[in-house]
Amino acid sequence: MRGVQALQGTDRLWRRPDVVVVGAGIVGLASAYELAERGLSVCVLEAAEPGAGQSSRNWGFIRQQGRAVEELPVMMEANRMWQELPGRLGADLEWVQGGNLRLTDQPERAEEYLGWIETATGYGLDSRVATAREVSEIVPGFAGSYELAIFTPSDGQVNPVKAVAAYVTALPASQVEMYSGCRAREIVTSGGAVAGLQTDAGFFAASAVVLAAGAGSGALLRRLGYHVPVHLVAQTVSLTEKMPRLTDACVWTGRVGFRQTASGQVLVSAGGRGEMVIDPSALGAFVSPRQLRQALPMYWKNREYLKIRPRAALGGLATAVGRDHLDGPVRHAAIAEALMAMGEYFPGRTWRTVTAWGGTIDGTPDALPLLDSVGPGGNVVVATGMSGHGFGVAPAVGRIVADLVTTGKSSHNLSPFRLGRFADGTAKPPQHLL
Ligand SMILES: Cc1cc2nc3c(=O)[nH]c(=O)nc-3n(C[C@H](O)[C@H](O)[C@H](O)COP(=O)(O)OP(=O)(O)OC[C@H]3O[C@@H](n4cnc5c(N)ncnc54)[C@H](O)[C@@H]3O)c2cc1C
Repeated sequence: MRGVQALQGTDRLWRRPDVVVVGAGIVGLASAYELAERGLSVCVLEAAEPGAGQSSRNWGFIRQQGRAVEELPVMMEANRMWQELPGRLGADLEWVQGGNLRLTDQPERAEEYLGWIETATGYGLDSRVATAREVSEIVPGFAGSYELAIFTPSDGQVNPVKAVAAYVTALPASQVEMYSGCRAREIVTSGGAVAGLQTDAGFFAASAVVLAAGAGSGALLRRLGYHVPVHLVAQTVSLTEKMPRLTDACVWTGRVGFRQTASGQVLVSAGGRGEMVIDPSALGAFVSPRQLRQALPMYWKNREYLKIRPRAALGGLATAVGRDHLDGPVRHAAIAEALMAMGEYFPGRTWRTVTAWGGTIDGTPDALPLLDSVGPGGNVVVATGMSGHGFGVAPAVGRIVADLVTTGKSSHNLSPFRLGRFADGTAKPPQHLL
């Protein structure tokens, strides 16, 4: 990728930028971009390749709909930013403002959503109940049954791979150095200040470190003395062959999530479900009563989407240790289940998958991100734990990170995103709606 320096195992570097960013997912990239816009020099360090984790594997839903109220103002800002990003980054991201449609056949969910719409309307969001006629205009030919349809016309979608590439390309070479194959080992502090970052490829001296390493953040935080409960969820995504136009909306029914790409292929989330990855940090939740108490409401709320397969989990434990969790297993049964649902929803259409991939989500018990300044002088800015919906919110998170690094504060209320909320027991059960 242009602008990325791929390191070999024997390379040894010594650099002194203003800021080091760990992780070149969408959060790290957006952070580096906003920091560079403010005139700072930045080194972005990526263990694999830019976008190798969740950021190139996600569905590309840019969704305000269903967000927890704490996250809504940040996400609404992100939505506005996505509309400007093609111009700012000078690239086509396949941004389409086709709305987000949620169909549910569960009375309990419908009830929750009606309450959520009232709250969201108070924030000026255009979410509303859609009539059956509107649904048939948004998704012509949809034959599934549902109790309630919720639609947010201002929601959109992008091509995640293009968005990652656009950020990488737009980073100014005069200010930002990006290294792939460069694994961060430890945030180093000295004399009550952040000294920099120790990596496999040498030391990066900097007075500020941004931690945006997705599933890799927990290990770096633990070495810094912060034990944050983060769980991992594996999901399968499939892409069909090109089809006649289906919809411009992102659609989520509880059985499947889908959107049609610019090329006409349909991205279908297989089964719409995820599987808990049982690794040592997940097992930690079962041996710590406090962590278990915090995690259970999350499992319960998402019980229709989350699966724990004890046998697969035990088998997976051996392979989970030491893994990076960038990809994830492709579950063919889940793809078959999803395509069966699509067949029922759109009778007469034939669904053929051309490719599929796995991705691993990093989630917190309250499904809110970890967004905080910690460490000596508050100079370790943590932006991680995006809980399965961090792609859409990333541009605004990048701006918040730049605010925290340059001024130590943000115009957003970040207290719901504090790292300490789990340790001090102030974390609430998850409020978001899927
Ligand atoms: C299947 C799937 C579907 C999703 N759908 C959506 C969606 O439709 N909309 C939405 O908003 N969100 C969605 N998400 C969630 C979204 O993709 C993530 O929240 C978001 O991409 C997180 O970005 P990130 O930069 O924090 O993490 P990542 O993209 O995972 O990037 C972290 C990077 O850090 C690197 N790294 C890790 N450890 C180290 C280390 N020690 N040193 C250096 N580098 C390191 C990794 O290699 C990785 O590249 C989905 C996720 C998945 C998996």
